[in-house]
Amino acid sequence: MLVVMQSHAAASQIARVVQVIEAQGMAAHVMPGATRTAIGITGNTGAVDQSLFEVLDGVEEAIRVTKPYKLASREMRHDDTTITCAQGTIGPKTLTVIAGPCSVESEPLMLKTAEHLMSRGVKFLRAGAFKPRSSPYSFQGLGLEGLRILKKCREQTGIGVVTDLMDTEHASAVEEASDIIQIGTRNMQNFALLKRVGRCRKPVLLKRGMSATLEEWLMAAEYILAGGNYDVILCERGVRTFSDHSRNTLDLSVIPPAKALCHLPVFVDPSHGTGKRAYVPAMALAALAAGADGLLIEAHPEPDRASSDGAQTVDFTTLDALLARLKSLAPAFGRTM
Ligand code: PEP
Ligand code: MN
Repeated sequence: MLVVMQSHAAASQIARVVQVIEAQGMAAHVMPGATRTAIGITGNTGAVDQSLFEVLDGVEEAIRVTKPYKLASREMRHDDTTITCAQGTIGPKTLTVIAGPCSVESEPLMLKTAEHLMSRGVKFLRAGAFKPRSSPYSFQGLGLEGLRILKKCREQTGIGVVTDLMDTEHASAVEEASDIIQIGTRNMQNFALLKRVGRCRKPVLLKRGMSATLEEWLMAAEYILAGGNYDVILCERGVRTFSDHSRNTLDLSVIPPAKALCHLPVFVDPSHGTGKRAYVPAMALAALAAGADGLLIEAHPEPDRASSDGAQTVDFTTLDALLARLKSLAPAFGRTM
């Protein structure tokens, strides 16, 4: 249920609605909007009695939400969500680029990458300190040492840090080290982890499970929102299909329906989506055209020497050329970079 307040509703009237919701043992999610505040209700086991709220002062109407992903749905919040980070805003008016090597490597390499990205206007460095690898014998990441290196990159260059959280055990350490917490494709339905990041106070980039439907993906986002963390970014990174010309099939066709059903920003990862660096620029440009709010691009000064995912990682020359094209094309799609 969504309780929509009148445009002139007083803070005390909003507080009273919250009180009534909580008195019923349910959770209230106050969502201030451009013209009025709405209050989402979750945690009800049966139908909620609309009349409980319609009689309260300052209430315009109480609307039933039909979607199972309530807080993520456009029924609950009509306007696009804009996320504000220290490094800038993420949302419908901007194209945010997040780039960096797949894994955190040495400190000099990470500092060099951070400096390069900042010099090109890329405000987010992404690299995994904890790596979800298919084989237990592959490089697993530098762990806490990787987080230390990422923090140093932020301190020295001001760049925002995006890094993977793989388990609840490291949630506090990853939250402290990052500006955006990444939940990888394999963990999209790790509900304990989703609940944990719902309690974090950093935005969460939630990758689509490699075999997840749009509804399953939105339900996963709902876990985080229901925990009180409303800053969630969806990230399409390719799904499993019969096609073998690419590592995954980058499902750009999910962007328009995701945006129709949900108000959260949608990013695209053309690196994991294709698995081949030669195809990354074309799919990054296509993602912009399809309505993406941001891109996640694996980049490394020497991709052939990368500790992981080198085949899909672009070098700085390719990245720079792509950034220039994105920058010139973004305004045609109503965005700035
Ligand atoms: C990554 O971003 O390097 C990664 C492991 O991604 P995914 O979870 O999409 O495979
Ligand atoms: Mn990777």
